[in-house]
Amino acid sequence: MSLRLHNSLTRRVEPFEPLDPTRVTMYVCGPTVYNYVHIGNARPYVVFGLLARLLRRIYPKVVYARNITDVDDKINAAAREAGVPIEQITQGYAAAFFEDMEKLGVDAPDVNPHATAHITQIVAMCERLIASGHAYAAEGHVLFDVSSYADYGHLSGRSLEDMIAGARVEVAPYKKNPADFVLWKPSSDDLPGWDSQWGRGRPGWHIECSAMAEAHLGETIDIHAGGNDLMFPHHENEIAQSTCAHGGKVFARWWLHNGMLTFDGKKMSKSIGNVLRLHELLAKHPPEVLRCLLLSGHYRQPLDWSDSALAQARATLDGWYGTLRDLADVEMETASDLPTEVEAALLDDLNTPKALAAIARLAAEARRQTTPDGKAAAKAALRAGAGFLGLLTQDPEAWFQHSGAAEAIDANWVQGLLDERIAARKAKDFARADAIRAELATRNIVIEDGAQGTRWKVVAPTDAG
Ligand code: AMP
Ligand code: ZN
Repeated sequence: MSLRLHNSLTRRVEPFEPLDPTRVTMYVCGPTVYNYVHIGNARPYVVFGLLARLLRRIYPKVVYARNITDVDDKINAAAREAGVPIEQITQGYAAAFFEDMEKLGVDAPDVNPHATAHITQIVAMCERLIASGHAYAAEGHVLFDVSSYADYGHLSGRSLEDMIAGARVEVAPYKKNPADFVLWKPSSDDLPGWDSQWGRGRPGWHIECSAMAEAHLGETIDIHAGGNDLMFPHHENEIAQSTCAHGGKVFARWWLHNGMLTFDGKKMSKSIGNVLRLHELLAKHPPEVLRCLLLSGHYRQPLDWSDSALAQARATLDGWYGTLRDLADVEMETASDLPTEVEAALLDDLNTPKALAAIARLAAEARRQTTPDGKAAAKAALRAGAGFLGLLTQDPEAWFQHSGAAEAIDANWVQGLLDERIAARKAKDFARADAIRAELATRNIVIEDGAQGTRWKVVAPTDAG
């Protein structure tokens, strides 16, 4: 079984082969830190983070870089609006981003390059592009000359005319061609800027990724990924810059693009304003529920966010955690390796819906086991399969006590009420016992009386009654 990935360059699923199996390289476009990221932004980091995990299983060394764009006009605008220094915006939101990623169970990449720490490399790349006739300086700007690169538009399958019409690119007197894009632009004194031979200025967005990928991964990288909204112009421009700066060498051998997370059918986007901030969702929902929802669709397809999708993800996890709780007394002798079915689904162009279906079958199998050995093996397989996807990483009791709670429920408080309820029932004070059940329901806690005593769990608000 080997890894197959869809390559946007060929528009086909192809067997993945790294250039150097002893050092597999991957670059993912990171966030522009001018605000909290939304749950849509989290999709590429969750799915491509999972891909990095899969690559690490197969290859001895993987270098995964995910940048932080910390110089951008949106950042300047946010700082001006808030009346605070730029660094306060970029450092604050970058820290919030790292924190959110950790909560969401996204493995840290090997490198987190910041654009502002790569100005020297950016300037050097501009110089090389000018020297090789692919860029020109004009009125304090450096522009990429798109007519100098015959393959411009290849990734997104657009002609130069389409791109000019579609991108509504700025027509400026200093541009030779309206489609020429900015590598460097002048900064007024109130804006961030660095001295250069073209005057004090700052980089354009696209060149940042080209320079950071080169600095940390080399001239040709195995995988470059990001959302499909970045295919044009961002990725198209990265290809043009890097290929021309490297004497025509291939920049990224595989291009992977995730589909958009939508909300009411529309792309979730800060500019439309229909965003749900990851930060706030993480305060309301267990991170695994958000992860499970993000992995419930194939990464290349659009995925619609809705309350019912959220409830579905929750119900799925409740079911699996329920299985683990029923098997709480079963000792797992040894941890299982990643179950074959789950691995096969992931190797098949990261088919996470198929992987989740395989995990559901592992859970069903675990419930069917009757012997101690059978139970132990099935439990270990379930834990290993789900764990690889960053799910079922908690203790089941903790899961049922905390999941879905807007604020953490105090387990001692619940236990106190349950003890009181037992006493009330013994004394045949059923009215008090019912009142306790009702009081717990107001906090979305349901109780289940069973052979082993009374269990409680936190449920979605509508289920508590
Ligand atoms: P940005 O900070 O806007 O550059 O976005 C960071 C990452 O999130 C990029 O890879 C985008 O392609 C991706 N992205 C933005 N919006 C969405 C969305 N609604 N669904 C999925 N990915 C998105
Ligand atoms: Zn990028």
